[in-house]
Amino acid sequence: MKKMLEGQIAIITGASSGIGEACAKKLAEEGATVVVNYATNPDDGNKVVKAIEDKGGRAIAIHADVSKEEDVINMFRRTIDEFGTVDILINNAGIQKDAPLTSLSLEDWNKVISINLTGQFLCAKEAAKEFMRRGVVKEKSVAAGKIICMSSVHEVIPWAGHDNYASSKGGVMMMMKSLAQELAPFKIRVNSIAPGAIQTPINKDAWGTKEALENLLKLIPYGRIGQPEDVGKLAAWLASDESDYITGTTIFIDGGMTLYPGFAGNG
Ligand code: NAD
Repeated sequence: MKKMLEGQIAIITGASSGIGEACAKKLAEEGATVVVNYATNPDDGNKVVKAIEDKGGRAIAIHADVSKEEDVINMFRRTIDEFGTVDILINNAGIQKDAPLTSLSLEDWNKVISINLTGQFLCAKEAAKEFMRRGVVKEKSVAAGKIICMSSVHEVIPWAGHDNYASSKGGVMMMMKSLAQELAPFKIRVNSIAPGAIQTPINKDAWGTKEALENLLKLIPYGRIGQPEDVGKLAAWLASDESDYITGTTIFIDGGMTLYPGFAGNG
């Protein structure tokens, strides 16, 4: 049976850990050739490439700081030189730099916005240029390209003490919808995934101790923390023709975190 992403080329930013790593592995399992983008240490990227290759998949690691335009342009150029084109972008790289408003530095505000929001813009721009240049190749996909933005439940849930992060994800939501509207006539689909609490290095404070995990689970009606693989499966489906009529949408993957669990029993 043909795999969902057979013959397609996917760039996944921030793919050397957590959700990005799981997306890279799942897309490769579904037949995509995967570019594992990493920010600093080549070993981190190469480790994911090796895991993919060990399972019979195809991947390469490419360095880029997604907040730097020259790095992003270079990552797309190298990918196209190597594989001929790009079909899928997973805009996953993101960071947190938390502080209460009165002690949040301009530097940490700018750092989070430049990676979480500007980085997604820079990558989406390069991807869209290539998708438009190539157009639809029916044997591979009925769309000319797919962009998936990693947002967060904090695109809708305000988050005190994380003003930079929540603002970046609110920005991702409106950027995604605007891009989807602009690019739909070119047969390019743009969507977001909004994870709740997924067990990765970014939020270790929230699950690293028994007490922290118990408190976190009060916010999750479904009663478990999410795993990176939960998100990887959704990303692969959203990148495939199985979801072809979906564009401009955020899919929440949060065990019910956005159902306002504090109201349960208080009706
Ligand atoms: P993570 O820390 O494991 O992954 C973030 C990745 O981004 C890392 O691989 C890091 O190296 C990379 N990165 C950081 N700065 C970069 C840069 N300038 N250029 C390129 N890559 C860079 O954490 P994660 O949970 O896997 O986060 C992935 C995405 O998921 C982020 O956008 C995050 O906001 C989002 N998210 C995570 C959760 C969660 O609960 N874990 C919830 C909602 C949203």
